Amino acid sequence: MSTTSPRVLYWSRTDLRTHDSPALHAALSLQPPPARATRGARAVLPRLFEEWRITHLVFEKDTDSYAAERDKEIVELAKEAGVEVVVETGRTLWDPEEVVKAHGGKPTMSLSAFMKATKTLSDPSEPLPVPDSLPDPGELTLSFENEKPSDDYDLNEVHRCSHPDESYVGIRGPKDDFSVPTLEELGIPEPSVTTPHRGGESIALKNLADLLENKEYIATFQKPQTPPTAFEPASTTLLSPHLHFGSLSVRKFLYDVQRATEAYSGPKKASQPPTNLPGQLYFRDMYFAAQHAIGPAFAGTVGNPTTRYIPWHLPSSIPPSPTTPYTIDSPTAHAWFLRWAWGITGFPFVDALMRQLRQEGWIHHLGRHMVACFLTRGGAYVDWERGAEVFAELLLDHEPACNAGNWMWLSCTAFFAQYYRCYSPVAFGKKWDKSGDFVRRYVPELAAFPDKYIYEPHLAPEETQKKAGCVVKPLEEGILPDLGVAHAPPPPPGGDLLPLKSQHLGEKYYPSPMFDFAERRDFCIARMKEAYKAGLHGDDPRVLDGKARDELFGGLDDPDSNGDETGGGQEKDGSTLKRKRTSGSNAQGNLSGWLKKGRKD
Ligand code: FAD
Repeated sequence: MSTTSPRVLYWSRTDLRTHDSPALHAALSLQPPPARATRGARAVLPRLFEEWRITHLVFEKDTDSYAAERDKEIVELAKEAGVEVVVETGRTLWDPEEVVKAHGGKPTMSLSAFMKATKTLSDPSEPLPVPDSLPDPGELTLSFENEKPSDDYDLNEVHRCSHPDESYVGIRGPKDDFSVPTLEELGIPEPSVTTPHRGGESIALKNLADLLENKEYIATFQKPQTPPTAFEPASTTLLSPHLHFGSLSVRKFLYDVQRATEAYSGPKKASQPPTNLPGQLYFRDMYFAAQHAIGPAFAGTVGNPTTRYIPWHLPSSIPPSPTTPYTIDSPTAHAWFLRWAWGITGFPFVDALMRQLRQEGWIHHLGRHMVACFLTRGGAYVDWERGAEVFAELLLDHEPACNAGNWMWLSCTAFFAQYYRCYSPVAFGKKWDKSGDFVRRYVPELAAFPDKYIYEPHLAPEETQKKAGCVVKPLEEGILPDLGVAHAPPPPPGGDLLPLKSQHLGEKYYPSPMFDFAERRDFCIARMKEAYKAGLHGDDPRVLDGKARDELFGGLDDPDSNGDETGGGQEKDGSTLKRKRTSGSNAQGNLSGWLKKGRKD
């Protein structure tokens, strides 16, 4: 091998594909004799540069805040090592940096602003073909071994049960071949996998090809008319996890959809942005560009100039804390949050959606609307950041930009402002699915309820409930887990939470609604109105130092300020109770018994 031959390290992250990969093409165009691929990071890459005498590092651009910071560091380290860095855009249709420039440095806060900005840029290029061949990686032995990262904050800890994480055994992985670790190697037992959705480029391309066969579906797709209650198959493409991992190129998705639409000659009119499929992909790009303009503050309220300040319950801690990420200002609201996260709110449509999310890692967009509105401005009045954290943990398609952006939209803190329009957990489900098939599927304990009561089983006569094999009654103490995990509610003690069984009688039960929805909706709208009037945004000094809550919103009611320290949360009336403020403290002390006790059955 000549000493002048390029030695290329291809760093693969959210671009797990060979089709339409500008970064892979750039790496191959350097014509390296062997090309090395890796998924390494800060600690490993500089050592690889040296050991493998790398001349070029190639990767796909990632504008997520964490990734951008990491990549900046890596580029510096590469420069120090005399390694040339090649970065290509491929994760989005347009480079978010270019979109922001075209929009005068401002975030794109509406699809029309985004479309206007991208009009000044050239159209996304045609997808690139799959390379004819990939060079053999050559000799991969190394003189050093991997250092296991610190596990101070191991977010996967709750899922690892069989044995410790072995994916860091040796730098080449347990099989010595740099392959992606198996679940077994990650210490996560295979039977604990409940999602039917599978990853990988072949599956992504097959799923897209199958959808394209139905040209009418593709050409006339209108997002607001796709039922959130459809399952097997879903009513939308379900390609978001593949876009997230890069196993499907977003440009290929767009071009294939456009071609199928052109080829469609049926009787229906082709749909247009924003509701058609290209419109959905533009929304994705819009959020990436908005995030890029704001930077890390886009993920929350504090420091984010685009988002309105609302004095939600369970606000993020100031300053941020990895161990105590939020303040429990209301034990009742905290209980509501945990019940939402585990799908035991007593509202069957909300519970079905949250259980689908937990089991399968994906829910329909309008289902996300329902549960996000319910947690924030249309029910529990809990900070959207809490919901976004649960979504981040559970979604297979989690994209920091789209997740935070959509949560701001749904909570009416940015992008959208019609806070007086709330989703009813009863009427919205019924609109799509009168007989409640979706609820029956994901809340099986209600499967035998008559259609009439499927969205409101607590209204069914006792006899009907008994006949259906499930009684409806308040949530018993000890069901909800103790607190302690940084970013998401931990799993229940002992594993199985559902179906709920009565501690005394052992009979199956479903919880009665955790609050009166109509009352909560009115309460939320009144408080949103007040917050809108105050007009504070995340960059206001009073938001930055955490004083806005007390100074501007100190006199408002909260749901558990009736002096009752049990904070049980069930059937409480938020609007009639006086406020007892605990904000500013990370008040876990007065949580109710039934939050703290383990379940006994
Ligand atoms: P389709 O309707 O088939 O759309 C095709 C593609 O367009 C999707 O795969 C997705 O990449 C993109 N897209 C569609 N709608 C949106 C949208 N509103 N915003 C951004 N991109 C969109 N999407 C994510 O990819 N990651 C997230 O973390 C995420 N979090 C969300 C949180 C909330 C509260 C809400 C309301 C929406 C969120 N979305 C997120 C957007 C949207 O719900 C999903 O992209 C969509 O449901 C994925 O299903 P699909 O592939 O069948 O979409």
